[in-house]
Amino acid sequence: MSIQNKPWEKLKPGETWRGWWEVGVSDLPAIPVLAARGKAGGTNLLVTGGVHGDEYEGPAAIHALFNDLDVARLCGVWIGLPIVNSAAWQARARRTPVDNGDLNRAFPGALTGASHPTTAALAQAVFETFVRPCDVLVDLHSGGAALVHLPMVGWYVGGETAEKLARGFGGGLHPWIVPDAAGVLSYEAHRASKVALGAEWGGGARLDPEGVKAYTLGLRRVMAALNMPPSERAGPSVFDARAPISGGYQETQTSGLFASSIRLGERVAAGTTLGVLYDAFGSALEEIKAKRPGIVAALPHIALLRAGERVAYIG
Ligand SMILES: [Zn+2]
Repeated sequence: MSIQNKPWEKLKPGETWRGWWEVGVSDLPAIPVLAARGKAGGTNLLVTGGVHGDEYEGPAAIHALFNDLDVARLCGVWIGLPIVNSAAWQARARRTPVDNGDLNRAFPGALTGASHPTTAALAQAVFETFVRPCDVLVDLHSGGAALVHLPMVGWYVGGETAEKLARGFGGGLHPWIVPDAAGVLSYEAHRASKVALGAEWGGGARLDPEGVKAYTLGLRRVMAALNMPPSERAGPSVFDARAPISGGYQETQTSGLFASSIRLGERVAAGTTLGVLYDAFGSALEEIKAKRPGIVAALPHIALLRAGERVAYIG
C-alpha cells in the first residue's frame, strides 16, 4: 500500500491546508487533516483526537486551535488529526465497526496477520504517514461513552521532555504517568523515540466546554514551550509539581449494576470499598474493593457493567 496524496508535505512557509486524506484501507472512510507550515523552521508537532470514536473534547480542541492558529508566528509544522478513526466516529462508537478493533491497541499497525485486520491497517497507515515524521505527539482522549475520567495529562517513564510539557499543560489536569501498554498510540510513539503525551478529560460521550478550553490552552502552552507559538494567547507558564497519578484500570469479574460509594478524585487505600454490584432483584452480588492505593481517576459512566469491563482507574 502506498499513499501518494500528502498535500500537507508540499505546504510553503506560511500556508495552511485542510482536507480529507484517503487512508487507503478498504471499508474505511477518509479522515480529516488540518495542517500548517510556519514561516520559520522548527518542531514537527502532531496532535491527535478521535482515536476512539466516542470522545469529543480532543477533536473540538484541535478544531479550535487550528481555527485560531496565527501561521505568521508559527515556527515548524503543525498537523492536527481531529478524527483518527472516522468509521468509529460515524458509528459514535469506541471501536472500528467493521472488525470491532480498538485502534488504540493496534499501533504501530500491521498489514497482515492481525486479529482486527482493518483496524491494524488503519493504525499502520496513520503511524507511518503521520507519527514517524513528527517530533512531538499529543494524543487527546476522554472517557468515551463508558467512563468518566479525572482530567489528566501524562507522559511515559523516561520521557523527560514530555514530562516537562505535561506539567506545563495547565488547566488543572493532574500529572499522570501513563502505563506502558503495547499498541497504544502515544506509547508506540514514545517507543519510536518521539516526545509523546496523552491526556484524558471527562467522558460519558459529552462535549464538555471546560475540557475543550483546557485542552486548547494546554496545546497552546505545549507549542509555546516548543518555541512554535500558536498565538498571543498561550497564557502564563505553569508547572504542576503534584505527585503523578500512576497505576491503571481495574476490571470487574462480575456483571451487575454498579453503585459506587466513592467520588472521582478521591484518594483510597488498597481494600477500600469502591461500590457494590447488584443483580436485577437488588441483591448484592459483590463488593468491589480497590486493588491498589491511589487517586480514583476514572469511574463508569454506564453503570450497568458486564464482566471484564472497567470499574475504576486508580493510581
Ligand atoms: Zn480514548
